[in-house]
Amino acid sequence: MTSAVPDVESRAEAVLAALDEEQREAAQAVSGPVCILAGAGTGKTRTITHRIAYGVHTGVYVPEQVLAVTFTARAAGELRGRLAALDVGGVQARTFHAAAMRQLRYFAPRVLGGPMPSLVENKLRLVATAAARARLSTDRTSLRDLASEIEWAKTTLATPEDYGARAKAAGREPPFEAAAVAAVYAGYESAKQRDGALDFEDLLLVTAYALEEHPDVARQVRGQYRHFVVDEYQDVNPLQQRLLDAWLGGRADVCVVGDPNQTIYSFTGANPDYLLGFADRYPDAGVVKLERDYRSTPQVVALANRLIGQAPRRKGLPELRLLGQRADGPEPTFVEHPDEPAEAAAVALKCRALIDAGTPAAEMAVLFRINAQSQVYEAALADAGVPYVLKGGERFFERPEVREAVLLLRGAAAGGSDPGALVPTVRDVLASTGWAEHRPPAGGAARDRWQSLAALVDLAVDMVAEEPTLDLAGFVGHLAERADAQHAPTVQGVTLASMHAAKGLEWDVVFVVGLVDGVVPIAQSLARPEAVDEERRLLYVAVTRARERLTLSWSLARNPGAKRARPRSRFLTGLAPESTASAPPARRAAKRAKVVLEGEAGELFERLRAWRSSAAQTASVPAYVVFTDATLQAIAETRPANLHELSALPGIGARKLDLYGEDVLAAVRD
Ligand code: ATP
Ligand code: MG
Repeated sequence: MTSAVPDVESRAEAVLAALDEEQREAAQAVSGPVCILAGAGTGKTRTITHRIAYGVHTGVYVPEQVLAVTFTARAAGELRGRLAALDVGGVQARTFHAAAMRQLRYFAPRVLGGPMPSLVENKLRLVATAAARARLSTDRTSLRDLASEIEWAKTTLATPEDYGARAKAAGREPPFEAAAVAAVYAGYESAKQRDGALDFEDLLLVTAYALEEHPDVARQVRGQYRHFVVDEYQDVNPLQQRLLDAWLGGRADVCVVGDPNQTIYSFTGANPDYLLGFADRYPDAGVVKLERDYRSTPQVVALANRLIGQAPRRKGLPELRLLGQRADGPEPTFVEHPDEPAEAAAVALKCRALIDAGTPAAEMAVLFRINAQSQVYEAALADAGVPYVLKGGERFFERPEVREAVLLLRGAAAGGSDPGALVPTVRDVLASTGWAEHRPPAGGAARDRWQSLAALVDLAVDMVAEEPTLDLAGFVGHLAERADAQHAPTVQGVTLASMHAAKGLEWDVVFVVGLVDGVVPIAQSLARPEAVDEERRLLYVAVTRARERLTLSWSLARNPGAKRARPRSRFLTGLAPESTASAPPARRAAKRAKVVLEGEAGELFERLRAWRSSAAQTASVPAYVVFTDATLQAIAETRPANLHELSALPGIGARKLDLYGEDVLAAVRD
């Protein structure tokens, strides 16, 4: 920027002054191995960005020699945004994939003997071919499971030859026999090779290989990058670790930060042991613990602590309880809805009210478990006239409308521009593309396009506030810098994101929605306790995104008019007041949909209902308080053989297991 550059020392001092004592200790350790192991919101990301800034401002780092990596595009965007705010340009902050892609593109001719191969964006087609060759009969689901299995194998560095043994050791549950999966894996690899293509795992693998096997490539890359930082290191997988090791080439200038309680990618091969074992691998590592939570109110922190406190403690895991540092805020709220459209409408209305009361839309988020849940929220927000963003800021400068706008702005700047008229000029230029500031289109691609351009105008407004004499040429120069650093401007709108994609981010207001058993935890996880634990961590990630207001909600039926039988998430037990769990009075009057089960399952169902009547009488509660029909149906269909299997079914929490578990098992055995 044009403001006078303060002297080096005071810039470095200012960077340190923004940290607490422990954070400062980590930030000042600019060389050598450093590990920060700490809970959500304790300032891990803040510490590494300040550490980089401190290294740059004290002249220890050349910015271009620093590579900061993380796991999601949004998190990388967050890193870039924070680095830009600290005035450190030139530092690379990318996902592992983006960093590998960039390097490989450069080295492809030398390493692969040609230009960069095409990328397999989606494995399904090749997997289907390979499965057909292996004479497997598949459907969409089993193909998808096969693709996930191949992905898992590749990220954990398993080959088709050792897949069987490795999958067994890891307790995988492949869709077909291990030998068949291995055959599909091998067939997939050769089909891909015939096409001359690379998949996402190959990107990392080939880049690591290039560094390991080509001394000239290694020399060049290792000469370029000297300081490494990994955020969210709890989610590193063996393939990514191999690439990191190849980048390091035996050097130890690496700082890793993470929170084992936020491990949410184990099912794809991520392993928190790399984080937990860092100090063993680097005995001279500086290890820093942080426990003050600066992000969230004590009310949100208390809920997060309680939630993660329900998880079985992992051996050797340090306790990572959070200490809230902020002023008190509202208690988190729990809301039950009759169906999903009602839940979404309530969220949208609340967003509308908060926006009207002055909370910017960009300070709110709606988080859900699976992307398919997004649609009903898009519709509800659109109905309520609330702007929303699905994609966040990633690849902003690559969007066609943004490229076009930047070209037009550049053209206009070449014709000369008035200082003091930047914002109206930008508006005029954008209006020439048909963009109308006060008429945002209702939805879909047109709305995305409108929002991108609105973000450019907002950026111009912000910049003029900082620098009133900025002209169009200066603005265009600034856009080029931002595009280079992939530093997207804030797009105004409520963020709609999956819990996975929300990692590392934060908002003033967070709605965690769709909290029914079978969604959170997701149905596929129910049979395996460690998978259920991962689902709990995912919910922990979601709730710890909230700075002030946190709302957790669920709905009893998916569609209006359908049977209201979905139990709320088991994770809410002990967090939400029990009373929200009981069905509203209307439900008892509602016509009960008849459960039709045939044969043995039908007999068992009737037996369970008879048992339920007497259990309800003994306890003087209505029958559905003991178990809903849906739960009885699940029991009748799956015939659990022990408490463990029973606990995996929807509607059976710890309390019910205690109260009724043995009775139910007895009824099943009869
Ligand atoms: P997560 O595990 O969710 O990624 P984190 O440990 O990376 O969290 P940050 O995002 O770095 O935490 O910090 C959380 C919030 O607290 C940010 O808004 C950050 O700016 C703020 N914060 C962190 N440390 C301090 C501090 N020492 N003083 C004031 N604010 C702080
Ligand atoms: Mg972080």
